[in-house]
Amino acid sequence: MTNVKSISTPHNNRKATGHDVTRLSDGHLEKVTSWGEAVSGMSYVYRPSTVDALQDILMLARRSGRTVGFRGGGNSYGDAAINSENMLVDLRRLKRILEWNPATGRIRVEPGVTLAELWQYVIEDGWWPPVATGTSMTTIGGSAAMNVHGKNAYRVGPLGEHILEFDLMLPSGEVITCNREENQDVFHAAIGGFGMLGIFISLTLQMKRIYSGLLDVATEPKASLGEMFTFFHEYAADSDYIVGWIDSMARGNALGRGDVHRANYLPPGADPQPAQTLRLENQHIGPNLFGVVPRSIIWLFMRPFLRKSGVQLTNWGKYLTDNLGGAKRYRQPHVQFHFLLDYVPDFKKAYQPIGLIQYQPFIPKETAHDAFAEILSLCQRRDLPNFLTVLKRHRPDDFLMSYAVDGFSMAMDFRITRENRQRLIWLTREMDEIVLAAGGRFYFAKDSTLRAETAEAFLGPERIAQFRALKARCDPDGLLATDLWRRLFER
Ligand SMILES: Cc1cc2nc3c(=O)[nH]c(=O)nc-3n(C[C@H](O)[C@H](O)[C@H](O)COP(=O)(O)OP(=O)(O)OC[C@H]3O[C@@H](n4cnc5c(N)ncnc54)[C@H](O)[C@@H]3O)c2cc1C
Repeated sequence: MTNVKSISTPHNNRKATGHDVTRLSDGHLEKVTSWGEAVSGMSYVYRPSTVDALQDILMLARRSGRTVGFRGGGNSYGDAAINSENMLVDLRRLKRILEWNPATGRIRVEPGVTLAELWQYVIEDGWWPPVATGTSMTTIGGSAAMNVHGKNAYRVGPLGEHILEFDLMLPSGEVITCNREENQDVFHAAIGGFGMLGIFISLTLQMKRIYSGLLDVATEPKASLGEMFTFFHEYAADSDYIVGWIDSMARGNALGRGDVHRANYLPPGADPQPAQTLRLENQHIGPNLFGVVPRSIIWLFMRPFLRKSGVQLTNWGKYLTDNLGGAKRYRQPHVQFHFLLDYVPDFKKAYQPIGLIQYQPFIPKETAHDAFAEILSLCQRRDLPNFLTVLKRHRPDDFLMSYAVDGFSMAMDFRITRENRQRLIWLTREMDEIVLAAGGRFYFAKDSTLRAETAEAFLGPERIAQFRALKARCDPDGLLATDLWRRLFER
């Protein structure tokens, strides 16, 4: 490893940070859940607010014989940020903006800064995060560890392509700087390496220049999956963002019908009042639905719609309304276009008492249409509807544990009940087979059901061996682990 930063030893800082580095305390034992709440575990949870305290925690893990996992905003749908019966470090308190250059759009942040905090910090200077996930509650560290994508993945790739450099703390406490020249193998593996090589303690990113607080948005209903694909094919080259919302209950010729939304940045001069539209107060989602129902309780009204008849009614109603309205074009604040899912805070509560899982396969463009059609029909035959189905376009990238393809992904949210739990697992097994046969891949941020052999089948033994070798180099004592790591890679 090169460029090791000099840091004080955990031993010297024991008093300063207040952590007893000799034993685990039951006071730290907590139940930790996946974002969808369907997966959980008991962990010793630590919340350091300084890098020194983080070192103490690594020392504690070493002494107590436990493994350590990391957690950002806890927005992964499966077990990526859970480390059952071991230690879990919640990094949300490491959240300083370390450097910002409004002339170049380069920013250096601590890992616990959220996407919401990031866009709020840069927008008034005319910049926007190059990659935005469907929720802004994600942290930059957690997003780098999963190499997240946005609705523009086909144009700009995943977040990793916009990370210029990061400092990674290894389990030994050593800090290495990684970029495209220095430690480049670790750079390409820690991004998307689900926290298994070390801890991002600072990250430098390049923001995207914008000339307005508004996007030019167009929406259109599409009568079938084929029409959806044609739309992506025709418009991808000319659109900064495209996303499709699929009615998962439509059958026959209407299978895969839905709406497509595309959006473009406004060029310089197109917004008569950019200084105004870029102001924070003009980037809001709005406190109420229809001006009446507070957003915080909308999830209560969603509950009845998460049964099969409700899903049918909602999808049908949405499609009908959109169809009657036809194509629409309007200008919309960035926040409203990107963070639709934040519109209903805690919408996951509607899935209680057990929760939800998501299934998001990535399939090459040549086979994606037929594979997704087969998956949609299979869900209908198995009587397991999903409430939210989202279609996106992607492009390949050069990160070691990449999930991306030159193709499409289709994300589906499934509600878990006592009655359907086992059937859902069987369904995911059947879908896995369709995805593998179509040459597809999987995304660990969304996964909770994959088996080790399926992970090996899509990543290939060589890539896994390369990742294991890097892990052995960065983490020779095997201190880093999560439930996801044990489920898919430890056997
Ligand atoms: C409503 C919703 C919408 C979403 N939309 C999208 C989307 O559009 N596109 C997309 O790609 N994903 C999406 N996601 C998934 C989400 O972006 C990822 O799971 C992301 O990793 C979550 O970030 P987080 O901060 O919550 O990380 P967590 O879920 O807490 O952790 C994710 C991983 O990062 C590791 N980690 C966390 N911090 C660090 C660190 N500092 N150093 C090293 N490892 C670390 C953890 O160990 C874990 O393996 C969505 C999730 C939700 C709930």
